[in-house]
Amino acid sequence: MTALFLAILVFSLLLLAYYRIPLLISIAILAGLTFAFTELRHFYPIPGWFRWSFGIMTVSLAGFAIKPLRRLFISNRLFSLYRKVMPKLSTTEREALEAGTVWWDAELFSGKPRWRRLLRQPAPSLTDAEQEFIDGPVEELCLMLDDWEISDELQDLPEAVWQFIREKGFFSMIIPKEYGGLDFSAQANSAVVMKLASANLTAAVTVMVPNSLGPGELLMHYGTEEQRKYYLPRLASGQDIPCFALTSPLAGSDAGAMPDRGIVCTGEYNGEQVLGLKLTWNKRYITLAPVATLLGLAFRVFDPDGLVGDKKDLGITCALIPADTPGVEIGNRHMPVGAVFMNGPTRGTDIFIPMDWVIGGQERIGQGWRMLMQSLAAGRAISLPSLGVAGGKLASMLTGAYARIRTQFDVPIGYFGGVEEPLCRIGGRTYRMDSARRLTLIALDLGEKPGVLSAINKYEQTESNRLCILDAMDIHGGKGIIQGPNNYLARPYQALPISITVEGANILTRSMIIFGQGVIRAHPCLLKEMNAVSGIANSQARRAFDNALFEHIGYTISNLVRSLLLGLTGSRMTPAPVRGPHAAWYRTLTRFSAVFAFISDAVLVLLGGKFKFKEKLSGRLADVLIHLYLASAMLKRFEDDGRPAIDLPLLTWGMEDSLYQIQQSLLGVLRNFPVPVLGRLVRWLVFPFGLPCKGPSDITVKAVARLLLSENEARDRLTAGIYISDKDDATGRVHKAFHLVLKAAPAEQAIKNALQESVNFENYEGLVRRATESGVITEEQATMVRLAQQASAIVIAVDEFPFDRAAAVSAAAATDTVVVQMETAPDPGSDQEQQPGQQQELN
Ligand SMILES: Cc1cc2nc3c(=O)[nH]c(=O)nc-3n(C[C@H](O)[C@H](O)[C@H](O)COP(=O)(O)OP(=O)(O)OC[C@H]3O[C@@H](n4cnc5c(N)ncnc54)[C@H](O)[C@@H]3O)c2cc1C
Repeated sequence: MTALFLAILVFSLLLLAYYRIPLLISIAILAGLTFAFTELRHFYPIPGWFRWSFGIMTVSLAGFAIKPLRRLFISNRLFSLYRKVMPKLSTTEREALEAGTVWWDAELFSGKPRWRRLLRQPAPSLTDAEQEFIDGPVEELCLMLDDWEISDELQDLPEAVWQFIREKGFFSMIIPKEYGGLDFSAQANSAVVMKLASANLTAAVTVMVPNSLGPGELLMHYGTEEQRKYYLPRLASGQDIPCFALTSPLAGSDAGAMPDRGIVCTGEYNGEQVLGLKLTWNKRYITLAPVATLLGLAFRVFDPDGLVGDKKDLGITCALIPADTPGVEIGNRHMPVGAVFMNGPTRGTDIFIPMDWVIGGQERIGQGWRMLMQSLAAGRAISLPSLGVAGGKLASMLTGAYARIRTQFDVPIGYFGGVEEPLCRIGGRTYRMDSARRLTLIALDLGEKPGVLSAINKYEQTESNRLCILDAMDIHGGKGIIQGPNNYLARPYQALPISITVEGANILTRSMIIFGQGVIRAHPCLLKEMNAVSGIANSQARRAFDNALFEHIGYTISNLVRSLLLGLTGSRMTPAPVRGPHAAWYRTLTRFSAVFAFISDAVLVLLGGKFKFKEKLSGRLADVLIHLYLASAMLKRFEDDGRPAIDLPLLTWGMEDSLYQIQQSLLGVLRNFPVPVLGRLVRWLVFPFGLPCKGPSDITVKAVARLLLSENEARDRLTAGIYISDKDDATGRVHKAFHLVLKAAPAEQAIKNALQESVNFENYEGLVRRATESGVITEEQATMVRLAQQASAIVIAVDEFPFDRAAAVSAAAATDTVVVQMETAPDPGSDQEQQPGQQQELN
């Protein structure tokens, strides 16, 4: 009986915490129970200690509800401690942290995500005009792009392509219609970049940059009306080509530390003496700089003579400088690896500009960093993520096809278990990346500027792209390595470090930004506490701190209890918004959200301000947040797509992998907990019955791989939105061969069964003849096998160049003609004899 009463007591408390019953209601419930048990003692033998315990708990909680009392004894004392241990933030750090909005990331930090809310968000869609642009000018542009010509021969986009990009408004996707822009949604912007990136990276980057963070975006939000009216139409029509220069040799990741400066002074402009800035800068890595006509520049303004006020250091400021301004050094190129988009340095020394070249005019001096941080989210959530997803989709489509076309040991290589694993990873990751891309675009189109989610997307899509391309390279073997017009993987592979490094290098983004910014912005109480203790220590600040602190305490206790109870019940206590087998995933995610929220708090309490320097812990917690977000995105996508059963292997792999990653990252944090013994205790509390997630099974791996090895709806959905060439070019030939190989497969199997020999592109003619003569296959099937084998041989072939190609290229350069000879391996199906000097890749 004592155990029963003890259990009732403990569970009453746990349930109050689990369901986050507000303090006053909890007190009322406990008081009611105290009264009820006191009355019931006349009918049942209810022990006195039990009734007293309820009474004591009621009174204790009531004590916490009396704010002056708790301020006196608790929060006022903690106030000073907090001020000491809170990380000291520089202005640039604070502005970066406070920029943008929070969205689903806040739900993931809550420990109790509201799934129905997520599922109620609109499914992604494009307007008719946006779809027409993608089916029209974007498709047309893709057709104009010859990757080898651009990357190897011209090292630039052909002039016709530049012209087309300008004329069709590709640079104006974010500019409002009133200024002549296309005014596209985030979905459309992303769809354009994704499709272009699947055709040619250089074109995609060229289009992406003016539509991301730069002069256009800054002018729309912060420019004066005059600046907007003058520049936006010029940018929309392509009359002006913009670039934005933030990075200096001294200040890369730590861009806020830039040494580039502007001194407030008077100078001559248009024959008059006006107030302005004397600028000195040295910037590098600036995309489009070599061809830019309008240079967006970030620099720090100083006012030594007090011409605009009392402060000497006015802070980071952004201005627009026409590139033909005397003294502006611009035009040299850097050569990024794997892509030939325009990129280069720019410099200037003591160049005078009038005040109205400052974006937003004189009153915006010093607001540059805030402007940049506020505007960063949109572009960062669209451009590089779309580029990354394009890589994943391309890898899925072409690697699946290649793994079906290429046979070894008389079997398509994609059927080998060893190849299934990387192939599955490509497909699963692509499904996950694209889901996150779609979900984040929904947020952007709802008007959010989700700073943390944009960092997650930038990091995740570029990292996953890297992994997809690496797996694709492995599966392609030598075919991926030999360069030439027939290689569709070499450029994406070479260019991988670019997207990893730009717009916040990934190591920094993972280990510092995602969790560091996430915990402050998306945590329900932390920013309130920080704001309360960071200003003057008056009674208002103390009251604000008290409210935030007690909300925080309640939240932490609740997350601990939720982690424990969900662990003990295998997450069955929590509802899921859907029925069916995948409801369990929602429940497990709710459980992990609670565990994540609790562990985050525990780590912060134990480390205080030192947390800022614990990047390994922060990185692991970032991994948890990333995969919580990715898993949410996949579940949302599955519902938006109408729950197609055929997609289930992709969803299953993605979910099981993400849940496993979350679990392992949490374990990593607990193993390296600031107080090891507490780490072990917390592990026991949050994983009471051991580790629940095992990762994807071999059955799932095989199912995903098989989806990529055949033509089906799931594969089409997975790769939707990328450019599919029907030309006689490297990728067009793969699509064609894949289709033919699948069609010819039954006939090839019949030949093998009858003649006990597998068909390949060297022996097919003899086998087909014998099989037709003996009636094993029809003439029509024979033609199909021939076509399939010929197409396969072409896909398997790699490029060959004359031995002295380098000499040929330099001779051509000297005479201004292009002489680059390329020979593909001979078509083994043709009657042509092999020429001396030609080699087949198979040999
Ligand atoms: C092709 C290309 C195009 C670019 N385009 C532009 C442009 O248009 N405009 C522009 O202004 N800039 C541009 N950049 C600059 C780009 O944003 C920077 O390269 C980037 O910010 C990183 O700076 P960095 O290269 O100097 O690396 P560094 O800052 O030297 O960093 C080197 C490594 O250290 C890591 N690191 C640094 N600090 C930390 C930390 N605290 N914790 C953990 N890891 C850390 C980084 O993650 C990185 O991996 C471009 C760069 C390239 C390569």
